[in-house]
Amino acid sequence: MELSNDEIRRYSRHLILPEVGLAGQKKIRSTSVLCIGAGGLGSPIAMYLAAAGIGKLGIVDFDTVDFSNLQRQILHTDADVGRPKAQSAKETINGINPGVEVIVLNTRITSENALDIIRPYDIVVDGTDNFPTRYLTNDACVLLKKPNVYGSIFRFDGQASVFAPHLGGPCYRCLYPEPPPPGTVPSCAEGGVLGVLPGIIGTIQATEILKLVLGRGSSLIGRLLLFNALDMKFRELKLRRDPECPICGDHPTIKELIDYEQFCGIALGPARPALAPDEVTVQEVKRALDNPSLGIKVVDVREPDEYEIAHVEGVSLIPLGELANRFTELDPNQQLYILCKGGVRSLKALNFLRQQGFKYLKSVKGGITAWSEEIDSKVPRY
Ligand SMILES: [Zn+2]
Repeated sequence: MELSNDEIRRYSRHLILPEVGLAGQKKIRSTSVLCIGAGGLGSPIAMYLAAAGIGKLGIVDFDTVDFSNLQRQILHTDADVGRPKAQSAKETINGINPGVEVIVLNTRITSENALDIIRPYDIVVDGTDNFPTRYLTNDACVLLKKPNVYGSIFRFDGQASVFAPHLGGPCYRCLYPEPPPPGTVPSCAEGGVLGVLPGIIGTIQATEILKLVLGRGSSLIGRLLLFNALDMKFRELKLRRDPECPICGDHPTIKELIDYEQFCGIALGPARPALAPDEVTVQEVKRALDNPSLGIKVVDVREPDEYEIAHVEGVSLIPLGELANRFTELDPNQQLYILCKGGVRSLKALNFLRQQGFKYLKSVKGGITAWSEEIDSKVPRY
């Protein structure tokens, strides 16, 4: 397999690096990488790997491009809103480098299909934004002995590592044996993320992939790199394989993929009940606001900044963080509907108030986002 004259020109800045050279560039071209997620992390990962001349790039993403993605997901443009992310990614990648074979996997990676999806690739890179997919990716990679190049981001913080027990390092479960209880760790949609942060962490992941391919430098295997953008500081933790790890330990108990939604305590998809007993719909909220005689009070537990972006008229604000000091402003015998952005924080507030003796509590399903979608589109979605 020789490089064409065009390839030699395209990759000349690589070829003159002794650490890459012609042999290294050929290795890059004969490598296949599976990128799980074509979002914030997947964007720089896929774009830089394509520019660097990776041979084959699989892109798994079941989602479509949303306006709120464009602040950081630079694979996609304004014109791509509403289109499948994996397809949009392919077009951007081939726009950068038509020589890259892009496999579009416009599907959700699950316990049923993960092994088949991952098996053909040399390296897997984790660009997911949720715990079930992260544990699924980890376990599938350990079982198939594929390096799993990990990154995650939240607000101004990011972390990255390379999990590869078959190369001597730990896996994600050695670091985090248990997922956090559902609802305790907000997602980027709930907590926000600085738009350039995935650019930094994803670029670190892409760098680690190229180093693995070239066999150069010291990789992040056995190290967790922590980054904070506000302080502009990197720190690093040493990681060791846990001999008791249920999947990569000395006596593994997990020998096949499990149900990761259940493992993470989340019921997603069509099985999710339409309305939990503690929830009300936004239609009920409208009825309560339109009919003060019902005596129902609606309380918003989001942050003041969020309230300023969007709020529902007639709803008072007590941010979740202040609730412990301010719940005495509320009447424990009044019916309360609690509102947040998407319906997660409101459940937390509900549980707190219940412990304080409040009796008539409901959390608004879907939060102000559902209000904007179903009741009043003039309230902006964020
Ligand atoms: Zn492990």
